[in-house]
Amino acid sequence: MNDRPAPPIQKIRATGAMKKLMAEYFGELKEAADSDSTKIAWCTSVGPAELLRSFGFQVYFPENHGALLGATRTATDLIPAANAIGYSPDICSYLTSDIGSYLRRSTPLTPAFGLEGVPRADVLVYNTNQCRDVHEWFAFYEREWNIPLLGIETPRGIGDITRDHIHALVQQYRGLIPTLEEVSGRTFDIDRLREVVQSSYRCTQLWKRVLELAQHRPSPLTFFDGTIHMGPAVVLRGDPRAEEYYALLITELEERVAQGVAAVPQESHRFYWEGMPVWGKIRDHAQTFSAHRSCVVASTYCNSWIFEALAEDDPFEGMARAYAEIFIARDEDFKEQYLARMARDYHIDGFVFHDAKTCPNNSNNRYGLSKRVTAKLKIPHVVISGDLNDLRMYSEEQTRTQFEALVEQLHEAG
Ligand code: SF4
Repeated sequence: MNDRPAPPIQKIRATGAMKKLMAEYFGELKEAADSDSTKIAWCTSVGPAELLRSFGFQVYFPENHGALLGATRTATDLIPAANAIGYSPDICSYLTSDIGSYLRRSTPLTPAFGLEGVPRADVLVYNTNQCRDVHEWFAFYEREWNIPLLGIETPRGIGDITRDHIHALVQQYRGLIPTLEEVSGRTFDIDRLREVVQSSYRCTQLWKRVLELAQHRPSPLTFFDGTIHMGPAVVLRGDPRAEEYYALLITELEERVAQGVAAVPQESHRFYWEGMPVWGKIRDHAQTFSAHRSCVVASTYCNSWIFEALAEDDPFEGMARAYAEIFIARDEDFKEQYLARMARDYHIDGFVFHDAKTCPNNSNNRYGLSKRVTAKLKIPHVVISGDLNDLRMYSEEQTRTQFEALVEQLHEAG
C-alpha cells in the first residue's frame, strides 16, 4: 500500500523511554516466572488489573502478546497450530495465534525480552465486557495448567448503565477476592486497592491528554503512533511508572504543538480509524496515509484505555463502571453518538472502518453504523476488510484502491 513516496515519519523521541519501560515490565515478569515467591495473574486487557495489582501479582496481558504476534507477522504461521486442535480459523486471531505460539513453543518474547515462553499463570482473570472469546482463551490455559479461572461476566450491548448493572458487577468483583487471597497468600487491602485505582485513573487522564493533543491542526501524533505508545496504559496502569512515561510523552507532544510540528508533514485530510489495527501492516498503513498527506488523528481503539469512572470514591464501583462503559460493550445508539462527538472534536474528514474477519466484536460496520454515521454527519467512510492478526484475510491491493478512492472523493469535495 505504499508505492507513492511518503514523507519521512516523524519519530517520537520518547519511544526510547517507552521501550525501556516495556523491557522492565517484561524483565519483572521473567523474574516472577523464574521464582516461586512472586505470583503471576493473567488479565484481559480491560479486566480488573487494579484488583490483581493490589494483591501484588505481576499482571500479564495475553492480548498484548497477541498484538506482538501480529506486529511481528508471526501470527499467520502460528494460527494453524491452534486450528489443528479444533480452534476455528473464524474465531479471534489473538486467541488462535497465542495458543498456536504456546503449542509451537515459539514467541517473540524470547528474542525481545529473554522469556522462554509466555509466563505461566497462577490465576487467570477475564472480563467478558469485550467478548466471549477471552473466556474460551483463558479456559485453554486453565485446562493446560490446572489453575483457577475467574471471570467477570459483563452484559454487552448496554445503553444507559444503571444502578442494577453496577450493583451486580460490584458483587462479581468482590466475589473474586477469596480466590485471589488464596492464590496470592495475601489478605485483601482496600487502602492498597484505592492507591492502585487512583494511579490507574491518573494514567488514564494522562493518556487522554496524549490523545487529545491530536485535536490540534496539524496533529502532533497519528493513530499508528498511538497503537505503539498505548503499551504502558494497557500493561502498567496502576503502576506510577506509566504515569511518569505519559508525562514525558506529553511534554514532547506539547512542544510539537507549540512549534507547529506535524506528525504528517503538510497534513491535509484527517481520518478516524474505527476497529482494530491490522497489526502486521501498521508501518505500511502509516506510510500510505502519510503519502497522501493524510493523518489518522483518532480512533476508538486507542481511546478504549481511558477510564473516567476510576475517579469514583468507591474503587469497586469505579472499576465496575469503568469496565462496563467501554465502547465495545455499548449499544448502537451510544456508538453513533460517540463517533459523532469524536468527528466534531477531532475535525474528521473521513472514517475508515476496519471489518476484522475474526473479531466481530470490534467490527462496527456490521449493523449499519458506518452508513448511518455518513448519512448523519455527511462525512464519507470506507470499510476495509482485513484482520487484526491473520494476514490471509487482508488484501493489500483492495485496501489501497478503497483508500485512494476515499481520498479522491475528499479532494473532489474540496
Ligand atoms: S475483542 Fe476481538 S480481538 Fe479482542 S479478544 Fe475479543 S475477539 Fe479477540
